Amino acid sequence: MMVFIDPGHGGTDPGATGTTGLREADVNWDVALKVRQYLQRYGLETGLTRERDESPSQSQRRDRAAAARCLVSIHCNSYNEPSVQGLETYAWPGRHDSIALAWILQESLLVTTARKDRGVKVRNLTVLGGDPPSALVELAFISNPDEEKLLREQWYREKAALGIVYAIKGFISIARKK
Ligand SMILES: [Zn+2]
Repeated sequence: MMVFIDPGHGGTDPGATGTTGLREADVNWDVALKVRQYLQRYGLETGLTRERDESPSQSQRRDRAAAARCLVSIHCNSYNEPSVQGLETYAWPGRHDSIALAWILQESLLVTTARKDRGVKVRNLTVLGGDPPSALVELAFISNPDEEKLLREQWYREKAALGIVYAIKGFISIARKK
């Protein structure tokens, strides 16, 4: 069984854009490729919900990951108040396995990225509504100038990727095998 990574946005949908023009879709894609590369070093087969610069719908992404062991969706946050910053992770309400995955991701990413802790939140996001345990990470605020700068950096993307990878490895090691 595969681990699935969802690089948020793509194609005609760039996602949020930072004040210096950094596109969320490009950051999500790059981090997703790094995550896949590291997961493969663990010997974990890894699928992506999009294989190139395209923009499948949220339900298409969810459906492509239907048979996976877990799904992690990668995004960057944005808000109309530029001072807002930090890291947050989402899970589907009432899905205890997904909420556990979200907590492990949040704690792992807090260590590797050293961002402000905005906590784990529950929300009915379509991409998270499928069968496998699923969580959506918001790596930092692309609308915050300091965090946009970080999101541009390869070293930051590496740390974000490692945070996600360690969390997934931990999660699937303790999760009941299907
Ligand atoms: Zn997004």
